[in-house]
Amino acid sequence: MATEKMLRFVSLGKEMPEKRPADLRAHDFHEIYREFAEVKAADQASRCSQCGVPYCQAHCPLHNNIPDWLRMTATGRLQEAYEISQATNTFPEICGRICPQDRLCEGNCVIEQSGHGTVTIGAVEKYITDTAWENGWVKPIRPVAERTESVGIIGAGPGGLAAADVLRRAGVQVTVYDRYDRAGGLLTYGIPGFKLEKPVVMRRIAQLEEAGVTFVMNCKVGEDISFDAIRGQHDAVLIATGVYKVREIEAPGSGAKGIVKALDYLTASNRKSFGDEVPEFDNGDLDAKGKRVVVIGGGDTAMDCVRTAIRQGAVSVKCLYRRDRANMPGSQRETQNAEEEGVEFVWLSAPKGFTGGTEVDGVMVQKMRLGAPDATGRQSPEVIEGADYIEPADLVVQALGFEPEDLPKLWGVEELGVTRWGTIKADFQTHATNLPGVYAVGDIVRGASLVVWAIRDGREAGASILDWLAQSAAVAAQ
Ligand SMILES: Cc1cc2nc3c(=O)[nH]c(=O)nc-3n(C[C@H](O)[C@H](O)[C@H](O)COP(=O)(O)OP(=O)(O)OC[C@H]3O[C@@H](n4cnc5c(N)ncnc54)[C@H](O)[C@@H]3O)c2cc1C
Ligand code: SF4
Repeated sequence: MATEKMLRFVSLGKEMPEKRPADLRAHDFHEIYREFAEVKAADQASRCSQCGVPYCQAHCPLHNNIPDWLRMTATGRLQEAYEISQATNTFPEICGRICPQDRLCEGNCVIEQSGHGTVTIGAVEKYITDTAWENGWVKPIRPVAERTESVGIIGAGPGGLAAADVLRRAGVQVTVYDRYDRAGGLLTYGIPGFKLEKPVVMRRIAQLEEAGVTFVMNCKVGEDISFDAIRGQHDAVLIATGVYKVREIEAPGSGAKGIVKALDYLTASNRKSFGDEVPEFDNGDLDAKGKRVVVIGGGDTAMDCVRTAIRQGAVSVKCLYRRDRANMPGSQRETQNAEEEGVEFVWLSAPKGFTGGTEVDGVMVQKMRLGAPDATGRQSPEVIEGADYIEPADLVVQALGFEPEDLPKLWGVEELGVTRWGTIKADFQTHATNLPGVYAVGDIVRGASLVVWAIRDGREAGASILDWLAQSAAVAAQ
């Protein structure tokens, strides 16, 4: 009986796939978790309590049918597990690797809430789809029938690619424009290989290329081609450009050499892992080797920077964050990984300025305490007077978050509606903007968010665009 194989959380403890030892993994950019063995994946899946109201599913942005694919995995029906999993997720093996599961599915698992330790949902999801790729169960995308309508997608990140997948399966002619030389957006150039190895992303892009999606790379919309020209060439347009404007520290000395932006730093490192020539890395500017590194920020981008610096051979890596550990925005799992690899966290500390003149040699640190809660209920950091000190640093990485660029201005489309935060205004369900036939998804709508939300938006926008094309065809036929 299948049910006998489930509900084993009482007798079987939670186990993640084996983590490579910190002293080994800190020297390379390979993923840190080894693959589950088949028996281990089945065992861990069998811990699911198959509860009537699966909170994991409700808190997964894609509403993945998690209990069903766990049951299939536990009972050895892996191919069916894969079919169920891929029905709601365009890139399950990517989400399984990089979703912050502790805040989403796993954080809301009922057996986690009852103190038994969550089912390791993300690791099983990754295992299922990696196995599907190995066994040839991931089939090429074959459009049902070719259609004449075309859609232009600006931005080849997860939002744009998820929409491209939906539209191409329906036979629509899809062209994806991106300013970078490789597709994938932050999956390719932001997120480091130790969280997401690049062949995993490139395999998906090859799948879309083989399906007939046209990629126009090295093409910056607004410079190499106008937004209006793209609109003129296609029946509908999807904007999926992400958010890239950096929040910079404004403090004495902040323009000095050696103070760099997180994404420049991570992109250079990711490019090196592709074997590219990167002059700013090769001349040492964006290489942490032999340096005392200070990363400023407490989010996931900061975690990626500190762990990259360790792998590049920094002599010391410190992370300055103005609140404490309990109040940091980054994932606790990633923070623990960073600590194991040798990163030192300096909590309740903020930069006041930089020393060294034209070339940074230190960060002036002011110590903070948590004061009264602000309007959101979060305690505001307050400066402790007289406790400043200088933290020596040869490389300072600013990782304070991202904001949207002013697209209406940059693209000369002042009529494109934006919110007061500068993100594009789009309908929550259809993702339509105020311009007919123009849709928008992912970070450029939500602000800096998550891959899984970009995938959800992209899938939904793809379906809405199909409706729009059908309506336009019906009107034209009248
Ligand atoms: C360092 C870092 C680590 C992260 N780690 C995680 C993680 O572990 N888990 C997670 O879920 N999320 C993570 N995120 C967030 C996640 O990467 C984003 O939420 C997600 O990639 C957003 O997808 P998107 O498709 O909206 O945009 P993006 O992935 O940013 O893609 C946008 C694409 O648009 C292109 N583009 C922009 N402007 C133009 C233009 N004018 N013309 C042509 N092309 C253009 C860009 O080149 C890019 O390729 C991380 C983010 C960063 C910065
Ligand atoms: S997509 Fe993300 S949130 Fe949803 S089940 Fe997978 S790992 Fe969990």
